[in-house]
Amino acid sequence: MSSHEFDVLIVGSGLAGLSAALHLAPTHRVAVLTKRALADGASQWAQGGIAAVLGEGDSLQAHVDDTLVAGAGLCDLAATRFVVEGAPEAIAWLRELGVPFSLEHGALHLTREGGHGQRRVAHVADATGAAVQRVLIDAVRRAPNVTLFEGHTLVDLITGRRLGRADPGCIGLHALDAASDEVRTFRAPHTILATGGAGKVYLYTTNPDTATGDGIAAAWRAGCRVANMEFIQFHPTCLYHPHAKSFLISEAVRGEGGLLQRPDGHRFMPAHDARAELAPRDVVARAIDFEMKKHGLDCVHLDISHQSPAFLREHFPNILARCAELGIDITREPIPVVPAAHYTCGGVVTDLSGRTDVPGLLAVGETACTGLHGANRLASNSLVECMVFARAAARAIAEAPARAAAEPPPPWDDSRVADADELVVLAHNWDELRRFMWDYVGIVRTDKRLARAAHRIALLTAEIQEFYAHFHVTRDLLELRNLVQVADLIVRSAQARHESRGLHFSRDHPALAATALPTILVPAA
Ligand SMILES: Cc1cc2nc3c(=O)[nH]c(=O)nc-3n(C[C@H](O)[C@H](O)[C@H](O)COP(=O)(O)OP(=O)(O)OC[C@H]3O[C@@H](n4cnc5c(N)ncnc54)[C@H](O)[C@@H]3O)c2cc1C
Repeated sequence: MSSHEFDVLIVGSGLAGLSAALHLAPTHRVAVLTKRALADGASQWAQGGIAAVLGEGDSLQAHVDDTLVAGAGLCDLAATRFVVEGAPEAIAWLRELGVPFSLEHGALHLTREGGHGQRRVAHVADATGAAVQRVLIDAVRRAPNVTLFEGHTLVDLITGRRLGRADPGCIGLHALDAASDEVRTFRAPHTILATGGAGKVYLYTTNPDTATGDGIAAAWRAGCRVANMEFIQFHPTCLYHPHAKSFLISEAVRGEGGLLQRPDGHRFMPAHDARAELAPRDVVARAIDFEMKKHGLDCVHLDISHQSPAFLREHFPNILARCAELGIDITREPIPVVPAAHYTCGGVVTDLSGRTDVPGLLAVGETACTGLHGANRLASNSLVECMVFARAAARAIAEAPARAAAEPPPPWDDSRVADADELVVLAHNWDELRRFMWDYVGIVRTDKRLARAAHRIALLTAEIQEFYAHFHVTRDLLELRNLVQVADLIVRSAQARHESRGLHFSRDHPALAATALPTILVPAA
């Protein structure tokens, strides 16, 4: 049993975690723990780009206004202004680090995405996240004060409250080391959760396997409030092909003129919304869901073949190449697409410095609910949120008064547990959870479907708790435990909202309530 001591623990190596690490590295001893390899996470997969006011004719107010419209009355104005105002500096920081943004005539090339009134999305062709992660991983590997722990999965946070101490704050965490199969103890006065979203709670998702809501579930268990979990963004256009695992067709394809059609060639978006293909994601996802259900379709088509092959090669080289691998020539034929769970708008409640309700515990990136996204995220606002809040969290930690050194926590005790005899239980429960969440808590909800989901979650929770209490922890078990916890938070939030707003659409409550209020869940004392 080993224990590690640092000034700051960061859980997660996506854009949020690595940005925080780089800001803290000059002054603090930082540990970055990540459950797989450093690059594994949603940040690596981001295609479209990063929103910031950089072009002529654009303004901070216009970016704020577009964000507020997408958020359907639920964005926090202070958080929105904070991110929009910090966005140009965040892009400048990435350029200084060496991110090779796409240029046009020597200036940044900006694309326009759904919901944005202006071209304001900086990008690296159609693989922005991969380029950003490459540069940040290189920088963090060279940073002298940062120790990297790959293959380390957060098990739970250690709080004074749980140990019955006077200071209820977070003093560290337990993490499962995949190499030694041992649970290690990490201690620090500050811990940042940067574990990303929870898309894996749904059967169809654009998210990577890491997106199991671990940070949200751990923060909830540690005593943090969690907000707006009913607002799950379904990306309208995930490639539909038996051999393509969650390959996203970027919104920029619609931004550059891509048309949505039924397989018979009928263009349907103008009948659903005046903004047609450039309507916000939730409107487009619901329209596709409607068309698929009404006409019994397995998928719809996204056609960009009217653009020249040279234009497509320049703007969408990865989409073109991936589709070509699967036998789809996007210069000549449409791309088959379906909606899939894409982004978790809710999360751990934080302030403008990323601080949570638990002293010493911060959350940044998709794990957090800062109030920026409200009831629906505006495209390309999430990567920038990661960076702006990572910087703010680092600043808050640097300026925080010193906390009294905590007594070491008792070591992880697994003396009374055995190796699991039947792992099939985990695989079965994992599949069952993701399917009923898709069927009952998907794009269109009803009271009855939510009640059915709640009933099943209660059964799974009991079964998984028993498993957790009796057997050695594995990453699969930890992830399943967190997914069920997050599913419970999503369903409870959805049941609490008696209206349809933004990404939450209920057939039983189709109207918009007069007052826009966030859904805030408070853990039991
Ligand atoms: C396909 C796709 C395309 C996207 N395109 C865009 C875009 O163009 N623009 C935009 O703004 N946003 C986009 N997004 C959203 C954006 O990528 C994410 O919101 C953002 O990258 C989240 O960053 P993060 O650092 O919070 O989380 P992530 O990048 O997901 O990183 C989370 C990290 O936490 C680690 N982790 C998780 N649980 C644990 C645990 N228990 N223990 C240890 N480590 C753990 C993971 O391994 C990972 O390293 C896209 C998302 C997807 C899926």
